[in-house]
Amino acid sequence: MTQNGELFKKLVSHCKEYGFVFPSSEIYDGLSAVYDYGQYGVELKENIKRYWWKSMVQFHENIVGIDTAILMHSKVWQASGHVDAFNDPLIDNKDSKVRYKADQLIEDYIDKLYEKAEKEIEKAKKRFGDNFDEQLFRTTNEKVKKYLDEAAKISNRLTILLDNNDLAGLKALIEELKIVCPVSGTCNWTEVRQFNLMFKTQLGSTADDAMTIYLRPETAQGIYVNFLNILKTSRQKVPFGIAQIGKAFRNEIVARQFIFRMREFEQMEMQYFVRPGTEREWFEYWKEQRMQWHLSLGIPKEKYRWYEHKKLAHYANAAVDIEFEFPFGFKEIEGIHSRTDYDLKRHQEFSGKKMLYFDHDLQESYIPYVVETSAGLDRTLLAVLTNAYTEEILPDNSLRTVLKIPNFLAPIKVAILPLVKKDGMNEYALNIFNDIKKYYLCQYDEKDSIGRRYRRQDAIGTPYCITIDGQTMQDNTVTIRDRDSMLQDRVQVDNIVKYLNDKLNGL
Ligand code: ATP
Repeated sequence: MTQNGELFKKLVSHCKEYGFVFPSSEIYDGLSAVYDYGQYGVELKENIKRYWWKSMVQFHENIVGIDTAILMHSKVWQASGHVDAFNDPLIDNKDSKVRYKADQLIEDYIDKLYEKAEKEIEKAKKRFGDNFDEQLFRTTNEKVKKYLDEAAKISNRLTILLDNNDLAGLKALIEELKIVCPVSGTCNWTEVRQFNLMFKTQLGSTADDAMTIYLRPETAQGIYVNFLNILKTSRQKVPFGIAQIGKAFRNEIVARQFIFRMREFEQMEMQYFVRPGTEREWFEYWKEQRMQWHLSLGIPKEKYRWYEHKKLAHYANAAVDIEFEFPFGFKEIEGIHSRTDYDLKRHQEFSGKKMLYFDHDLQESYIPYVVETSAGLDRTLLAVLTNAYTEEILPDNSLRTVLKIPNFLAPIKVAILPLVKKDGMNEYALNIFNDIKKYYLCQYDEKDSIGRRYRRQDAIGTPYCITIDGQTMQDNTVTIRDRDSMLQDRVQVDNIVKYLNDKLNGL
């Protein structure tokens, strides 16, 4: 396994062991690609949501938030195009009867080539030690070059096939690469077919009046169908935005990679309504804003890159993705799309309601154009955790696993720990806990040695640990330990809140 693959495995088990993410319905062996957030995961998720909401709704006087229902009229999804075109190409292996996403099989093949290249690089690193020039090796070593070139070529071919919706071409490429089913080991494939990703359900109590509806596959449509309501009640003028955070559901065929690709997930979306002709300007504006937002999560710049859509959807006139380098490679974390007036126009057509905006400055009515920013909450959380997960060897040779989550996102801000459970230290500590909990989400812990308690807090990313020791009982001072540096300050009990406010910015 590559270093990154190993890191990913460790991260997944860390998330489970420390109460961040659990497989759904685990006591029944789990439900594929559905996950539950545990006590720390939910706090981290809420903090990310709140931060997104603040950045979008609070910091932009012309953006309002809404919360629309998951269940919507089925015509919404006809108008949006999802009923006809929200498909993935799937292929079955005739021997194992297992179903795959055709493009995913090819992507896995490409990933293996990258893994082979990484293995060669790792081997060389060990061989050459400190003198190793990785960049030079990547561009000159014949074996590595061959793997990387082949991966890039196949990746290009895949993009073209997907862009052209060439299902026969996908099958031909799978056969040409002799990709076998991991279960049966054979290359005995069916044709590639399209598969709609929406979950269907029935609305209504009797079979006669039941109507087929869908669990929403994106939150954006809830915004479009409320465009007129918001226009009337918010008195906004273009350009203005409507933001929403909520669940979306997709019956992903191959759902792997932990919370990266789930069947039930959350999106943070904002649709920005602009005067036609100004959309490119706003597209550039939101590209920049959104990248800055991701960088402000304390993640270094080199972990992100842009992916420009080569072939645009027929309704879009510009589209980019922000990709993050997950342990399994660079993958989409947010899409920024200039969607023209497609969605509002389609809803006007299907509902018969005029989706017009009267522009007082121009003295004319039009259907606004839309620039959308669409981020995955779970993928953002995974990015924060990937970046935060750190293993350190301490001077005594022990291993410290610490989540270096930025303070403002950390699930628990402060831990209050009596050094020992006697001499009044625990009562003293509980008093501090009862005071600090009014300001910050904190935790009281008196079990096990202080070293083990520090490790537990490191593992969930708690930025500060307050320890009540023998000296506290004499002079009313405590130690406050910083998670990352592990350095301790001695602070007067009366100054703890001020100390924390300075460090945590009141977050
Ligand atoms: P992908 O190509 O990875 O399937 P997408 O292009 O279909 O993603 P969009 O429809 O643009 O994704 O959705 C916006 C965002 O929602 C994505 O950038 C991603 O962060 C998130 N997202 C989409 N599908 C999933 C999923 N199955 N699980 C978790 N997050 C998802």
